[in-house]
Amino acid sequence: MKKTIPYILFLLLIAVGCGRDSTPTTGNPAAGVPGKAVAPTEPCRFCGQDIQEGMALASPLLVVLDNAAPARPQSGLPQACLVYEVPVEGGLTRLLAVFGHRFTGEIGPVRSVRPYFALLTHEHGGILAYCGASPRGEVALRELRVAHLNEITNSQGFFRRSERRAPYNLYTDLDRLLAAAERRKLPAAEKREPVFSTGPNAPIGGESAAQVQIAYSGEALVEYVFDRQSGLYLRSVNGKPHRDDSGSQLAIRNLVIQFVNIRPEETASERLDLSLAGRGEGYYFAGGQSFPLTWNKKSAAAPTRYTVNGSELVFSPGTTWIHLVSVRGRNSVLFR
Ligand SMILES: [Zn+2]
Repeated sequence: MKKTIPYILFLLLIAVGCGRDSTPTTGNPAAGVPGKAVAPTEPCRFCGQDIQEGMALASPLLVVLDNAAPARPQSGLPQACLVYEVPVEGGLTRLLAVFGHRFTGEIGPVRSVRPYFALLTHEHGGILAYCGASPRGEVALRELRVAHLNEITNSQGFFRRSERRAPYNLYTDLDRLLAAAERRKLPAAEKREPVFSTGPNAPIGGESAAQVQIAYSGEALVEYVFDRQSGLYLRSVNGKPHRDDSGSQLAIRNLVIQFVNIRPEETASERLDLSLAGRGEGYYFAGGQSFPLTWNKKSAAAPTRYTVNGSELVFSPGTTWIHLVSVRGRNSVLFR
């Protein structure tokens, strides 16, 4: 019984410190709140992670990142809500990072657009930041009327890091991009609904998948190992941990593999043409489990829908990586 009063006080302190409705938005000492004020949080609309209230973006910002060996370690990937990994020429992959909540760190190195980046951006809405485009990339950006910030035509919103060599030295951050978008009257404040749902309803009944491997090519072997403690997949490339520039290994909550038809571009056969509209198969990995998945996208303008166990996939709150892989390279995906 001696412990009753301190225990009640302890519970009261927890209630005052963590209660979303009872916590002041500023640490005003006049409010009489003991201890440090806890900033109220809310789930990010785009990834479901807890973020500070007011940090959500109305419309996502998308950035094309290089993923060749000299481009690593990149900056900004752990803070993305969603990252697409897509093949480009030469057996390499490039990344399209979708940012739906604010953070202050750098993002880069920024690289150029292929047509499928324009299609994916069109699906999410928002503004695409990049540096140059292939000829068909230019056409896709124009035809789909993708709002964009291209460093080649206007360097506002970007900067070069002096200790890195070109072309792996072009960087940006969300504040710079938002300021550049405002100056150029791009629709950054237009509210976009997220393409994907997030929540606690993870699918059940999957097969064990503690290790996942995607062999894009001899130059790009991606591996994930599930970390039971954090519930995240730790990413490696070509046998080495894939780190961001803080030194942390990339750790991802949800993995999607989406098999798509890939063929050489008709007019520039060194480049690739990815068919993103239509339907197909793939896998979803989360919580150390794998699930067969189907996808469909009715048209270039329609969102991609993923179905697992007969229902629309609801992603676990956290970062998601979607890997577009050639349907002819199904054997390049292994998991156990
Ligand atoms: Zn987010």
